[in-house]
Amino acid sequence: MSDHDFISGSKPIPLERGEGPSLYAKDGTEYLDAGASYACTPLGHSHPAVVEAVQEQVGELTFVDSSFPVESRENAYAALVASAPAGLESAWFCNSGTEANEAALKFARSATGNSKIIAATRSFHGRTMGSLAATWKDAYKKPFEPLAGDVEFVPYGDSEELAEAVDDETAAVILEPIQGEGGINVPPAGYLETARERTEEAGAALVFDEVQTGMGRTGEMWACQNAGVTPDILTTAKGLGNGLPVGGVVVRDWIADGAASHNATFSGGPVVTAAVHATISTLLEEEWPAHAAELGEYLTSELEAALGEEVREVRGEGLLVGIELKRGSNRVARDLALEHQILALPAGRTVLRLLPPLVIDEAEADSIVAALAEIVAPEAQAES
Ligand SMILES: *Cc1c(COP(=O)(O)O)cnc(C)c1O
Repeated sequence: MSDHDFISGSKPIPLERGEGPSLYAKDGTEYLDAGASYACTPLGHSHPAVVEAVQEQVGELTFVDSSFPVESRENAYAALVASAPAGLESAWFCNSGTEANEAALKFARSATGNSKIIAATRSFHGRTMGSLAATWKDAYKKPFEPLAGDVEFVPYGDSEELAEAVDDETAAVILEPIQGEGGINVPPAGYLETARERTEEAGAALVFDEVQTGMGRTGEMWACQNAGVTPDILTTAKGLGNGLPVGGVVVRDWIADGAASHNATFSGGPVVTAAVHATISTLLEEEWPAHAAELGEYLTSELEAALGEEVREVRGEGLLVGIELKRGSNRVARDLALEHQILALPAGRTVLRLLPPLVIDEAEADSIVAALAEIVAPEAQAES
């Protein structure tokens, strides 16, 4: 809401403090974060384990470049690789999701010697020139063209078209295991497997962008583990540092061996990696992915029961939930915020997206369901 910010849209709620899944405004009003932090706080706001790790590190050693072995950095690399599917053995840290994808596309090009990238319709991979080129929406791209070319788009979820598009000039296929920004689109069974088989046959790199789906949200640490498909390159950011700006790329050996020169000044900074280590350790030790699976199933079935015919579909996996409405999602998000103190996100014109911290409980899920029922199905609500 700064008068000096010419980019960010303003929401008239001056937030001051966060704890667990709750955000508090200056006047003390409590809001339930069901998307306000864009999946960046899987452990909830200002989680004590992360706060403590960051405070300690910032006081001890705030920054030194990534060629020095610093304990927080070493710990974060080990934790990230250990959390990833077997076969992904090396990692590199950056500062954001778009940078992680940018690196993934560069690594794929240098390891394969090819340039062609295959991406999906309705994809979102970030806003820098390379990641943007692999992003679907014209409104994000057109004003900035030409982008880093040689990207072919295939319809998301269509195995045949994908299999046909991959050939021996393909450097990479980049996919979100479930599309986030594009509307919470879950691909049909067998789609990710086809992507795996075809890229392997053609010698191309399979890149899974898990910037939104990762960090336990879908019930497994990484969404690709639900399908049992391991990519050559997995990218992450958003929840990786529980709110601190950090991204990561985890790769198979052939990608690491073939990676040409790439780096970033702030790569693996001690403070953000302290956050990464604390976040991954806490998520796994306290089994939050399993909680996300359980609560996601509860939330989804309660939404279906309460909203019924008033919505087109409730879909997703775990606590990555999309509700396809019969009306505009912006308006519903606004009513949720202003009338019910629940902060959710639109994902396209008619899809409302719920991305709560994984630590929400059943009562909080119930409050989301009740509020949505009041907004989109007021009559059904009155009858029950
Ligand atoms: C948010 C997002 C990005 C971009 O991440 P930034 O940190 O905003 O650059 C890339 N891919 C997916 C799937 C995302 O949800």
